[in-house]
Amino acid sequence: PSGPALLFVKISQGKEVGRRFYACSACRDRKDCNFFQWEDEKVSETRLAAREEYNRSHQPSFTHGQNVERYKDFVLLPLSKRRFCQECQQLLLPAEWEKHSNHEFLCDISTAQLRSPSQLLYPLENKKTNAQYLFADRSCRFLLDLIIDLGFSRVLSVGTPRLHEMIQSKASQEEDFRVRSLLLDIDFRYSQFYTEDEFCHYNMFNHHFFGGEGALETCRKFLCQDNGERVIMVTDPPFGGLVEALASSFKKLMAMWKERGKEGHNNQEMPIFWIFPYFFESRILEFFPSFSMMDYQVDYDNHALYKHGKTGRRQSPVRIFTNITPSLIVLPVEEGYRFCTICQRYVSSGNQHCEICNSCTSKDGRRWKHCVLCKKCVKPSWFHCDNCNCCALQSHTCEKTDAGCFVCGKAGHKRSTCPSLSRT
Ligand code: SAH
Ligand code: ZN
Ligand code: ZN
Ligand code: ZN
Ligand code: ZN
Repeated sequence: PSGPALLFVKISQGKEVGRRFYACSACRDRKDCNFFQWEDEKVSETRLAAREEYNRSHQPSFTHGQNVERYKDFVLLPLSKRRFCQECQQLLLPAEWEKHSNHEFLCDISTAQLRSPSQLLYPLENKKTNAQYLFADRSCRFLLDLIIDLGFSRVLSVGTPRLHEMIQSKASQEEDFRVRSLLLDIDFRYSQFYTEDEFCHYNMFNHHFFGGEGALETCRKFLCQDNGERVIMVTDPPFGGLVEALASSFKKLMAMWKERGKEGHNNQEMPIFWIFPYFFESRILEFFPSFSMMDYQVDYDNHALYKHGKTGRRQSPVRIFTNITPSLIVLPVEEGYRFCTICQRYVSSGNQHCEICNSCTSKDGRRWKHCVLCKKCVKPSWFHCDNCNCCALQSHTCEKTDAGCFVCGKAGHKRSTCPSLSRT
């Protein structure tokens, strides 16, 4: 149901070669999708037929096209007849009230509510991969202002429904607002609020357009319009997602933009904001060496990862990774960011420039300290451990340093993050 599966590898202790299998790209919890198939497995006709039947029965009850028609009817209704079923997460037409009579519903759905579907729909909480964390208004506005200041006029919103809706909402209300957005998201509920030119049902773990060739073409057109100029992609994937799978899809979207023909802008890359926690920095840079991580802390309305910092302001671990020149990304001084003239980028106020590293080294906004033995800056809570020959928390248990990666044998990572493998 989520489109093509991904190929994973299962490693068992003591074996050199892992066994490869296909599993759902979007659902990492087997409870949500139990698709499983060994790479070398023969699948019988009956099983294939059963699968197809299963996929058919797991289609949404209305197509995107039908939802667009329903929306047109819905907005013609007087306020008193505009209902939204909370159980089915669906706009209801009067003829359907009966069927939902024992469901909870909201009435008097206003135009303003229709313009902010992310407020109307409940955030999906589907554990790791499908959890929806919505931008706090402050962060969403910061992103949009930044996009405008940088001169972009089209935003490919990949898994950023709230940014999309802020853009759409302004576009429908302010005459001189010129920015447009196309939302790509796996959450099909949004098809009730947007036309096929505004929303594509999309899986960012396998670059699958559920709407087929037509939807792919919509996306291609959006990217390549005006010779691909002034377009930026903004994405905020679920943090449990595989970086490798995401990177592969984003490269395909970038390639779509690159194909826009005409003049030679060969080495250019489509501008991107990839919003993700700072501890994924090395993973992201592995796939996108041209990216750098900004210090800006992206805030959410409903995020469990929040800690409250000294200042009472929330400390969020979520950052913006971008291939735009860092000095152009102006961070708000009133929120404590300052410009480091040596690094040529805005940094957190607590992020001190280290003379030895010649860089503002803090990743989490706190002031880090330089360790001469490690030859790098480390978290303020860490101390150099002579046993481990590296810095760590005082309370850590010393590990053998010669224990390399179980898969490739190299030191510095565990098998779960071995770059030579897809992770299971
Ligand atoms: N901060 C963003 C929301 C990020 S939550 C905002 O406020 O706009 C992650 C988003 O990615 C959700 O909208 C979710 O529906 C979407 N998503 C989750 N898995 C996806 C997948 N496999 N493909 C595409 N979108 C996905
Ligand atoms: Zn699935
Ligand atoms: Zn600096
Ligand atoms: Zn240093
Ligand atoms: Zn050290």
